[in-house]
Amino acid sequence: MHNTVSKKAWIFKAAAMALSAVFVALALTTPFIIVSVSDGARTVVVVDAGHGGADGGVIGRRTGVKESELNLKVAKLLGEYLASGGYKVVYTRRNDTMHTFPGVSNRKRADMFKRGEIINNAKPAAMVSVHMNYYSASSRRGAQVFFDRTDDGGRAFANIMQDTLNRDVNSVGGGREYSALSAEKYLLSCSPYPSIIVECGFLSNPFDEENLVRADYQANLAYTLYLGIVEFLNTES
Ligand SMILES: [Zn+2]
Repeated sequence: MHNTVSKKAWIFKAAAMALSAVFVALALTTPFIIVSVSDGARTVVVVDAGHGGADGGVIGRRTGVKESELNLKVAKLLGEYLASGGYKVVYTRRNDTMHTFPGVSNRKRADMFKRGEIINNAKPAAMVSVHMNYYSASSRRGAQVFFDRTDDGGRAFANIMQDTLNRDVNSVGGGREYSALSAEKYLLSCSPYPSIIVECGFLSNPFDEENLVRADYQANLAYTLYLGIVEFLNTES
């Protein structure tokens, strides 16, 4: 009896060791592997891809790429990382479309109201709105984070996200580092949940634009956003 139990225990132990060896091997060889699938514990995160449909947002100075298209790509990659980490992801859009809203004829306003409704219904632990920036001076580059000044959770979230982006994105390749800034935006003030807007880079800057249209850069950016979200949620709990 004892012998059988200890033999079973040994087999179990060996299997567990083999499994953990596989995980270590994967972690060493696969970029951006999510180590634990239970971290998120189904915590809800809203991922908002800015603009969409008739509202393309800003346009890349050199490539003519639409901001709405890049936002959606980065948002979906971010959502995949979050889902892999055990978080429940709610998107405000998954296609190249604008929302309608009952009784609101202004398309942009209707689209915003619907996004606000999605956020409030989701009751997320965090909301991230993904955008790309544009500025008259083409020299300006890097990722910037915005929060509403009345949203304390958003401010804390924005500071953590900005630090993460400064470390993993802005400091790479000689980019400039930023401090998170307050902004008056509907999506930042339409719900009581910690909310930020991330302007991922400038489509008016040749260096940023060249990076932002690349799939590997988008994946790295999305992973950096994922790390910022996880760090904020871990400090909150
Ligand atoms: Zn935008």
